[in-house]
Amino acid sequence: VMHNNRKEHLYKILVIGDLGVGKTSIIKRYVQQSFSSNYRATIGVDFALKVLNWDSETFRLQLWDIAGQERFGNMTRVYYREAVGAFIVFDVTRPATFEAVTKWKADLDSKLTLPNGKNASVVLLANKCDHGYDALWGSDGRMEQFCQENGFVGWFKTSAKVLPQPGLTDPLYVIYQLAHG
Ligand code: GDP
Ligand code: MG
Repeated sequence: VMHNNRKEHLYKILVIGDLGVGKTSIIKRYVQQSFSSNYRATIGVDFALKVLNWDSETFRLQLWDIAGQERFGNMTRVYYREAVGAFIVFDVTRPATFEAVTKWKADLDSKLTLPNGKNASVVLLANKCDHGYDALWGSDGRMEQFCQENGFVGWFKTSAKVLPQPGLTDPLYVIYQLAHG
């Protein structure tokens, strides 16, 4: 779509994972540059829009924040429909949320197929790394291998709480590249 001589793209991106891993916080940090330690479970579907202007193109990233259905771990096709990519988030302080990651991936892959017949690109986020990472999770190589074996395009250590995050590539940039390229 052309608008004011700018090429516009709209991408639907899902943010999924178990309850309390920090999905809403990551989106808030990214879109509004804020963080709150008040726990408030998302109810209903939340959307956030991040607009990136690069060269002559505008990218509207519509972030879909899973909303309470984490408890069931089984989303409807309607929710996933027309997404181009997803983040699956786990909490490094709770290993059970990492075990759930493959379930989320399987649920997504079984219900969402891109127009080109492929699965959507999925990035894994190891969140709450401000609590430390290495003690619990060992080497980065282990996670690389997990991503390769389970079809994730990559992974990042994230913290919605602490900025700056050394060595962190903006994961939404990765999704953008995948959606665009
Ligand atoms: P959601 O259920 O996945 O959307 O999780 P929330 O975004 O609601 O976060 C759950 C709780 O974890 C809240 O109390 C947040 O303040 C906290 N939290 C989220 N991200 C981080 C993080 O990166 N580091 C720390 N220390 N706490 C976080
Ligand atoms: Mg939430």
